[in-house]
Amino acid sequence: MDQPRKLHIKSFGCQMNVYDAQRMVDALAPQGFVETANADDADLVILNTCHIREKAAEKVYSELGKLKLLKQDAAQQGRRFEIAVAGCVAQAEGEEIIRRQPAVDVVVGPQSYHHLPELLAQARREGRALETEFPVEDKFGLLPPPQPEAIRARGVSAFVTVQEGCDKFCSFCVVPYTRGAEMSRPVAQIIADTERLAAHGVREVTLIGQNVNGYHGEGPDGRPWSLGRLLHRLAEIPGIVRLRYSTSHPLDVDDELIAAHRELAALMPFVHLPVQSGSDTILAAMNRRHTADDYRRLIDRFRAASPTIAFSSDFIVGFPGESERDFAATLALVEQIGYAGAYSFKYSPRPGTPAAEMQEMVAPAVMDERLEQLQSLIDSQQAAFNAAAIGTTVDVLFERAARHPGQLVGRTAYLQPAHVMASDDIIGQVLPVTIHSLERYSLIGELASHAAAPKPVTIGA
Ligand code: SAM
Ligand code: SF4
Repeated sequence: MDQPRKLHIKSFGCQMNVYDAQRMVDALAPQGFVETANADDADLVILNTCHIREKAAEKVYSELGKLKLLKQDAAQQGRRFEIAVAGCVAQAEGEEIIRRQPAVDVVVGPQSYHHLPELLAQARREGRALETEFPVEDKFGLLPPPQPEAIRARGVSAFVTVQEGCDKFCSFCVVPYTRGAEMSRPVAQIIADTERLAAHGVREVTLIGQNVNGYHGEGPDGRPWSLGRLLHRLAEIPGIVRLRYSTSHPLDVDDELIAAHRELAALMPFVHLPVQSGSDTILAAMNRRHTADDYRRLIDRFRAASPTIAFSSDFIVGFPGESERDFAATLALVEQIGYAGAYSFKYSPRPGTPAAEMQEMVAPAVMDERLEQLQSLIDSQQAAFNAAAIGTTVDVLFERAARHPGQLVGRTAYLQPAHVMASDDIIGQVLPVTIHSLERYSLIGELASHAAAPKPVTIGA
């Protein structure tokens, strides 16, 4: 038998890229590739790139410079070392990548990962291969499913892409250009993927998509199903005890999705619902197509359906034209909603997007200051949210061994890491944990049955 070839994937950016990296591993497994954690001893390195903010492309070229040296070393040892660039920078830059870094063998856009084996073969024949089209065929139907060992190695929590691309065209965002038009996978494919994952030990599935609640895939009845309906169906799959979905757009939240939070015990009460800004003027300039009050009302509807629900969000500070008053409206919204956590970014002009043409740039120093202010408000809300868990008993899905011997880590309903001392036969189970302290962002506790005699545990370095 041939020696297995080693594949190293370095992923940047969103959870969609984490998932895509796994699908690339699955696509190349039949070619004899096995994953390695090191680029140095790999035969093939794939940079799975992100284009969402500035400097992403420059970071890719600097990584490629390092890989070129590894390729030269490998050549001196008589070893083949191949380099592929995948993801949204590959989509956006295309041939420019090979022009700037001739050591690259393959450039492949996110819609073409199922063609990776042929592209590698073409690169070996012709020296180079490039594919950044949006092919008409369904890549999901053509990507090989993960092998049972791969599913088990990836752990009890898995992503399943249900929707890809975006038609929302927020004025700052490259996703509609790099990931293409919105498409939803058929319900039957998603059920089959989830059943396969469940059969090999997965207990939690996060449905992902750039605009996941815009999901409208074809159901077994030939009609489009909403995300809420899909969640109901997936909750019936034996073994699946937790469901999540990300990332949602406020405009596409419907009654069925809100009702699912009332009706499904498996649907976790934690929703990532990006709002970007609390100012109606900025929301309009961003083409978000809702107001801050629309968002507040939406949050109220979720809370009415599920009183324990918590939220996270994304924010952009320093969007062109953002005044002190606009920024104050963002802070006011955050104060009012009270987040369990949120991501905040400085606005970064993306070539080809409408916002990149806008003239009224916010000064970098002002952006820095606003980012700091917003982040410190969000951090304080997150710290308060985590502190509120102390003294309570919460359900934890145990995922894996932690850094300290005998210690396990799992996640609460709100994705907080929770550490306990326990034997690893509880991995994959949801068990109640009594929380007695916090260490940075982690909750430290005891299995509830052992909580009578708490033993403090130290994590971290
Ligand atoms: N689809 C999601 C939504 O509706 O909000 C998020 C997609 S995007 C991958 C993740 C986040 O990156 C966005 O929510 C936004 O906050 C941020 N982002 C996107 N484009 C940006 C830009 N040009 N500058 C700064 N942040 C940006
Ligand atoms: Fe980008 Fe807006 Fe689509 Fe989210 S909804 S991916 S921010 S265009």
